[in-house]
Amino acid sequence: MDRETLDSIRQSVVEAGLVLARSSMTIGTYGNISQRVDADHIAITPSGRDYEQLTPTDIVVTDMEGTIAESSSAPVNQDFGHKPVADDSVNTKEDRSSVTVPLRPSSELPLHLEIYKSFPEAQAIVHTHSVYASALAAAHKDLPPVIEDLTQITGGAVRCTEYTMAGTKELGRNAVQAMEGGRSAALLANHGAVCWGRTMKEALATAQILEKAAQIYCIAHSFGTPFPLNEKTAEALHDFYLNHYSKRQRGEE
Ligand code: 13P
Ligand code: ZN
Repeated sequence: MDRETLDSIRQSVVEAGLVLARSSMTIGTYGNISQRVDADHIAITPSGRDYEQLTPTDIVVTDMEGTIAESSSAPVNQDFGHKPVADDSVNTKEDRSSVTVPLRPSSELPLHLEIYKSFPEAQAIVHTHSVYASALAAAHKDLPPVIEDLTQITGGAVRCTEYTMAGTKELGRNAVQAMEGGRSAALLANHGAVCWGRTMKEALATAQILEKAAQIYCIAHSFGTPFPLNEKTAEALHDFYLNHYSKRQRGEE
């Protein structure tokens, strides 16, 4: 594992977390983000930690089986107002800030690993609890390809999984199944959304554009019937995105 590369990947995960938190794509510590480090490792946000307080060393590194390769400790989170579980005898504010606990990888590590194993192109994953995507997920509805930008990225409907409890390997398997055909996004029933990208920027943009599309779909429903694009059009839009538009975004065309 190259140290310099790992440092910049951890930094990119921290920055993506700030984007999520500041754009209301998730509230509090919910949601999670990861990025591939090399063929055998990923870097993932720690479980239950505030995005605004994360530093690059807080990002946990695991292998593809989920075994921790690198993690650090962090102070007990004072914002939640609890006494530190690590040592109840420590009670002054100054003492509490010196109490640390080991950081665990996100509880959705199995979801991230299943996606990386199934889609070799995936370099980064963003899992959100954004409102409109979650509303569709609560109704167990797929999001049809009703708006061009998202359709360019996904090439078709964003399918919703069956309900599976958070943090399970089965949730990962169901998400992969919903992404069949190389779809880079899925809705997780009664939970939220998950998106992958060929870069962190692309994974984040997919999550944001998915949320916007879900909002448009819900609004369109309030005054009429949204018209999904047909399969041929969806494929042509996706083809344009892969072969031209995303290259322009990366400055390659
Ligand atoms: P973590 O804080 O463990 O990443 O979990 C948040 C979440 O979104 C669970 O689905
Ligand atoms: Zn979640």
